[in-house]
Amino acid sequence: MLDGIILLASTTCLFALAAHFDFAERLEDFIQDHESWQLDEIFLLAGFLSLATLIFAFRRIQDQRVEIRLRNEAESAARNLALLDPLTGLPNRRHLGEVLDNAMLQGPADGRCHAVLLIDLNGFKRVNDGFGHPAGDELLVSLSKRLSGLFKEGTFLARLGGDEFALIAFDLSGLDAATAVVRKVAMAFEEPFFAAGSEHIIGASIGIALAPQDGTLGADLLRRADIALYRSKESGGSSSCFFEESMDDLVLQRITMERDLRHAIVSGDVLSHYQPIVNLKTQQIVGFEALARWTHPTKGNMPPDRFIPIAEDTALIRDLTESLLRRACRDALEWPDHIVLSVNLSAVLLRDRTMGLRVLAILAETGLNPARLAIEITESSLVSDLELAQVVLSRLRDAGVQIALDDFGTGYSSIYHLRNFRFDKIKIDRSYVDALGGEDPENDAIVRAMLGLGQGLGLTIIAEGVENAEQRDCLIRKGCEQGQGFLFGKALSAKDVATLLADADPLRKIASL
Ligand code: C2E
Ligand code: CA
Ligand code: CA
Repeated sequence: MLDGIILLASTTCLFALAAHFDFAERLEDFIQDHESWQLDEIFLLAGFLSLATLIFAFRRIQDQRVEIRLRNEAESAARNLALLDPLTGLPNRRHLGEVLDNAMLQGPADGRCHAVLLIDLNGFKRVNDGFGHPAGDELLVSLSKRLSGLFKEGTFLARLGGDEFALIAFDLSGLDAATAVVRKVAMAFEEPFFAAGSEHIIGASIGIALAPQDGTLGADLLRRADIALYRSKESGGSSSCFFEESMDDLVLQRITMERDLRHAIVSGDVLSHYQPIVNLKTQQIVGFEALARWTHPTKGNMPPDRFIPIAEDTALIRDLTESLLRRACRDALEWPDHIVLSVNLSAVLLRDRTMGLRVLAILAETGLNPARLAIEITESSLVSDLELAQVVLSRLRDAGVQIALDDFGTGYSSIYHLRNFRFDKIKIDRSYVDALGGEDPENDAIVRAMLGLGQGLGLTIIAEGVENAEQRDCLIRKGCEQGQGFLFGKALSAKDVATLLADADPLRKIASL
C-alpha cells in the first residue's frame, strides 16, 4: 500500500516539475535543434519504457499485497491450530493457560471468584480398549458437544489431552455458585453416551480450585485443581472435590512422582537391566532377569520397589510392562538361543484378561521364541483372582512361555497353587538364602523341604540373593540347580550384557563391568 502511494506521489511530482519548468516546450525546441539525432523516436521509446516500468511496479505491489494477505491467513491458521484440539475443536491446554493467565491478571470482580474445574473421565479407557480408538474419539467428540452446550456464557471449556477436560467459570458469586457449576457438569454424565453403535456409561472425577482464595496465578490454580482431582479420584467412583490447604505435601509429592513416571515411561527413560541366572554346578549363565531401572532427573536412582507400586496404583503398569517387555525381547534376540529372559508380571496385570494375548503379541512382533521367555509372578497375585490368573497364564503356557513362582516362601506357599498352576520354576526368596548355614537350623530344613517339593514336582529351582560362595556350595549340596545373586553379578545394562556374552568366561568378565 505504502509502496503504491510513494510510486503515485513521485510520478505526480515528476509531472508537476515537468509542467513547472515547461519541460514539453523545451524538449520540442531541443528536438528541432537536433533533428538529425532522431530524438523524437528515442524519447518515445523512453516514454514507453517508463510506462511499462510503472505498470510492472503496480503489478508487483498488487502481488505483494496478495502474498501478505495469504501469509497473514496462514499465520492465523497456524496460531489457531496451536491453540485448538484437532479432534474436538475445543481450545487446548495452551489456550486454556493463556486465557486463565489473562483472567488472573485482572482477577475476578470484587467479592466474586473464578472456578477452575479439572474433569477426568472414568470408564473411557474401557471404551477405547474394548471398542477401538475411533469409538473413543466419537465419544470424546460427543462429550465435548454436551459440555459445550451446558453454559451459555461466562465459561471457557478446553480439552487438555486424552480424557482430561477443564472448565473455567468466571466471576461467580461464591462457593454456592461454584458448587452449582460442578453439579451441572456432573449431571452431564448421567445420560449414557453413544459411540460405535452402543451406549456407554462414563463417569467423571472433578477437582476444583477457586481464585483468589486458592491462588492468584493461573499455574497455581491448575496445580491445586489437579491436587483436588487426585483426591477425588482416590475416593473412587465419580465424585468432585474442592481444593483444601490440608491437601498436604505428601499428595503433592506423589502427584509429582506419578507425573514424572508417566513422562519417563513415554520417553523411554525407564529401562531394563539384566541380572544373570546361573547354573550353580556348571557356572554357566542360563538366563537373565529383567529388572526395571529409572534414573529420576533430580532424585537420581529410583528403586523399583518405589516406582512399581505407583505404576500399579495408576494403571501405568501396563504401559511400563509392555514397553519394558518389548525392549527386553529385542535385547534377548541378541543373546545365544539357550539363554532365557525372565520378566516380572505384576499382580495387577494378572487381573487383566487380555494380558496373555498382549504378551504373545509382543513376542510375535519382536520374533522372540516364546520358549525363551519366563514370566515371574508372586503367589499374592494368584490369590486376588485365581480364575482370571488361570486365563492369562494358561494362554501363555499353551504358547510355550515358562511360568516361574517368584519370592517362594514369603507368601502363602500353598501346595494348592503349586499343583494347580503347573509352574515351570520356583524362585526361593532371598531371605531363606541369606540365612543359610547360619544359627537357624530350621531355615536350612525349610530350604531342603522347598527343594524336595520342587524336585518332586519336576520344577526347576532358582535360589535368589546368592551373595557368597558358602551359600552357593550349600545350595549345590542340597540339590539346588540354579542361582541368582550378587555373587554372580548385579543387573547390567543391555550393552554390558552384550560385552559379557562375547567373552569366553562371562562370570569372570562380569566383575570388571
Ligand atoms: P524381585 O523380582 O525379587 O527381584 C530381585 C531383586 O533382588 C532385585 O531388586 C535384585 O536387584 C535384588 N537382588 C538380586 N541379587 C541380590 C543379592 O544377592 N542380594 C540382595 N540383597 N539383593 C539382590 P530390585 O531390582 O530392586 O527389584 C526389586 C523388586 O522390584 C523385584 O523383586 C520385583 O518385585 C520388582 N520389579 C523390578 N523390576 C520390575 C518390573 O519390570 N516389573 C515388575 N512388575 N516388578 C519389577
Ligand atoms: Ca523377580
Ligand atoms: Ca524375587
